[in-house]
Amino acid sequence: MLPLDGGCACRAVRYRMAGAPLVVHCCHCRWCQRESGSAFALNAVIEADRVALLDGEPEVVHTPSESGRGQRIARCPACRVALWSHYAGAGPLFSFVRVGTLDDPDALPPDIHIFTASKQPWVAIPPGAKAVPAFYDRKEVWTAGSLERLQAMLPRIEAWRTAQQGAAG
Ligand SMILES: [Zn+2]
Ligand SMILES: [Zn+2]
Repeated sequence: MLPLDGGCACRAVRYRMAGAPLVVHCCHCRWCQRESGSAFALNAVIEADRVALLDGEPEVVHTPSESGRGQRIARCPACRVALWSHYAGAGPLFSFVRVGTLDDPDALPPDIHIFTASKQPWVAIPPGAKAVPAFYDRKEVWTAGSLERLQAMLPRIEAWRTAQQGAAG
């Protein structure tokens, strides 16, 4: 199954995920519905340095987000398909890869459905699937391996946040 390759519709941008994601979110929030023009977003969360570009260079578009701090969406500069985004919390260190852009999107079903309080009423969550009305506690959902990977990233996340505060102040 690994590595997982993907890309945009016109194939100008191609990428490779070097390993399994930390977690896969199926997000039913209204913001994801608006951005995708669909019922939910399916995002594989992974350390950004585990996503390698094979071809092309995405253009990063600053997009409003629910937190008010915005997200940066990496899009193909030609066909504009969104490939992944970076959220304000951990900035450029983590990529939320759009699972639908993988060559084999079936490889990454969601680990959890989030923000189901705003899910469109016709969407039925599969029986037995993890689902929460808003967000969740990572310790209850992520695998031990993913939590260790997050732990390993903490110094870099802290350094990035400190640099951000310096830039803002
Ligand atoms: Zn393209
Ligand atoms: Zn969302």
